[in-house]
This record gives sequence, structure tokens and C-alpha cells, in this order.
Amino acid sequence: MAMLAEEVEARRGRGVDSGLNGNAGLDESAALNESAAPARRLLRVVTANAEILYAASRHAEQGALLKNADIITPDGGGAVKASITLGRPVAERVAGVDLLCRLCAEGARRGWSAYLLGAAEESAAGTAKRLRQDWPELRLLGWHNGYFDEEEKEKLIQEISGLKPDLLFVALGFPAQDRFVEENRQRLGAGLCVGVGGSFDVLSGRVR
Ligand code: UDP
Repeated sequence: MAMLAEEVEARRGRGVDSGLNGNAGLDESAALNESAAPARRLLRVVTANAEILYAASRHAEQGALLKNADIITPDGGGAVKASITLGRPVAERVAGVDLLCRLCAEGARRGWSAYLLGAAEESAAGTAKRLRQDWPELRLLGWHNGYFDEEEKEKLIQEISGLKPDLLFVALGFPAQDRFVEENRQRLGAGLCVGVGGSFDVLSGRVR
């Protein structure tokens, strides 16, 4: 696991290309929390699809959000294909929803806690229900929809800060989810923060 933590450090800040060069498969990404949770260090994960990679190459702020991520996984055929074209093929496709499920399964085995933030009320509630059904041993500490004003946002950050979840899944879409984590990095205190885009809509069955 030390090797993995070192690899994360080495990978930090290498830019859009580096994401595709990261070679982080599902196993590796899930195992990351081994180094994140005990140290209570925050690691931010971007599952980058072609749209995210494109946006990051066009907008400085979005590029920085990708560049400063602790780990970037290729989400989708476009990202995997790009890695082959660039001559640095990645191990496998890692979509946000797959990583979420894998981390929950791992969390259920290891007694990790989790918090869900984002999406419409029914999506967040439906995902929480599903996670409790599928992984009763995962300690789901709470959830909140992704539509909040500044005042509610402050309360949410305080709530998450106090709960200190090992896993924080943020489903606000890129770049909002990454901005949320990055801007509140010091206060969130979570282990692994994964931007999961529309995953709650899928897991709750609202979108297929
Ligand atoms: N969303 C949210 N708050 C907002 C805007 C969007 O919670 O202010 C949610 C939205 O309901 C959806 C998710 O963010 O569940 C974005 O999903 P999308 O598939 O567009 O994101 P992507 O995977 O493309 O980043």
C-alpha cells in the first residue's frame, strides 16, 4: 500500500496527460482508501470522461481541478482510446458508478463510513436506500441532495466535517463537485472524495 501512496504523490500535478498515464485500475483506485482513511488525509478522485478531459484542456480553472486531483481514472471508451493514441494505454476503464460500488463493497468489509452529497432529492434518497440494502455493513452516515444555497452549503460542510466519513461521494457534476471538494479541502476532513457525476441518478433507478 505504501507503494500506492507514493504513486499517488508522483502522479500529482502532472496535467491532463497524466490522468491518462495514471494507469489506475478499479482495484488500485479502491485500495487508495487504505492510505487515505487511517491518516484522515483527503484524496480527491476524478473519473475523467472525454467531456471532462476536453473541458479541462480548454478552461484553465477546470484544467487545474483535473491537474490537482490526487488520482484520475479514465471513465469511458473515449478516455481509454485517447490513452492508446497518446501511447500510454491505461489499465482499464473506471467509471464513477463502478468505483462507487467497489468502494462501498470494500467499505462494508472494512467498516468504513460514507456520506452522499448531490443530485436531486429522490436520486440521493434512492441511492442511500440502495446502498443500505446492498451493503448493510457500510456505515452510511448521511446524505443530502445537491441543490443548496450558500447558507445550506456552510451547514453541510460543517456536518460532513463533524462526521468525518471515510468515503465522500459528491454528485454535482464536473467541475462543481471538484470545486466543492477543493475549496473546502481543509475542512471536509474526509478520506477519499470521489466526484461521481450522475451516478446517484443511475443507482436510484431514475436514469438508465
Ligand atoms: N446536480 C446537483 N446540483 C446542481 C447541478 C447538478 O446535484 O446544482 C446533479 C444532477 O442532479 C446530476 C449530477 O449533478 O445528478 C450531474 O450529472 P451529470 O451526468 O450531468 O454529470 P457528469 O457525469 O456529466 O459530470
